[in-house]
Amino acid sequence: TKKNKASPDRLEDKPEERQKENLKILQFSTLDLLSLINNVLDFNKIDSDKLELEAVSFRLAEFVENICFGLRQKANDKELRFILDIDSRLEETHIVSDPTRLSQVIYNLVSNAIKFTDKGSITVKLERVNKTGNRVDVLFSVTDTGIGIREDRHETIFEMFAQAESHITRKYGGTGLGLAIVKQVLTLFNSSIYVESTYGSGARFFFTISFATTEDATRTNIPAPADN
Ligand code: ADP
Repeated sequence: TKKNKASPDRLEDKPEERQKENLKILQFSTLDLLSLINNVLDFNKIDSDKLELEAVSFRLAEFVENICFGLRQKANDKELRFILDIDSRLEETHIVSDPTRLSQVIYNLVSNAIKFTDKGSITVKLERVNKTGNRVDVLFSVTDTGIGIREDRHETIFEMFAQAESHITRKYGGTGLGLAIVKQVLTLFNSSIYVESTYGSGARFFFTISFATTEDATRTNIPAPADN
C-alpha cells in the first residue's frame, strides 16, 4: 500500500491526534506481551521445580531503594506520593538471598499498587520483626490508596489469569499473572502473601521472609530489577 507522508506511524513522528490513541494501545500491548511471556516462562519453571533460589550476599536496604527508584518515577508520573519506609535497624543488614526473585515480587506488587491507584500514595515498608543469631525476619508491605479489592476476590486474585472484575480489566489491562507469580515465588522463600483491603479504599499486600544474614559483603553488585 502507498504510504501517505501525512500519516506517520511512529509516536516519535508527531502523529495526528486521531492516530495517537491507536499507537498508544499498540505500544501498551507490546509491553504487556513481553511481561506476559516472562511471567509464563517463570511460572513453568517454578511449576516444574526447575527454579532454584540463588544465594548472593547484598545489603537489603540499598537493594530495595534501587528497585523503588524507577517505580517512584512511575508513581510520580501519576502524581502519587511514593513513600519508602525502611526500618532503621535494617540499614546495615546484609542478607544472603536471591535478589532477582525478590525484586520480581516487590516489582509486581508495587507495579500493581501504582496501576490500581489514581489518587493518594503508595507505601513500601520493611520492618524487622525478629532477629536471632544469623537470621533476620523481615515484614514487607505494599500499601496503596487505590480502588481496593472486593472481599470475595481476596483469594482468587492469586490464581493464574484471575482478575478481580472484568470492567477493571478493560480499564487497567493486565494478564492476571503477576500475583500468581508472586505467590509461587514466595513459596520458594518459604513465605506466603496476604492481602487486606476495603473495597474502594486501597489495599495492603504483605509477607514475611526469614533471611540468613552475613557480616561479609564481598559481593555488592546488585542485578537490575526483573521487569514484570
Ligand atoms: P494483572 O494486574 O495483570 O491483572 P495480577 O495477578 O497482578 O494481574 O492481579 C490480579 C488482579 O488483582 C488484578 O487484575 C486486580 O483486579 C487485582 N489487584 C491486584 N493488585 C491490586 C491492587 N493493588 N489494588 C486493587 N486491585 C488489585
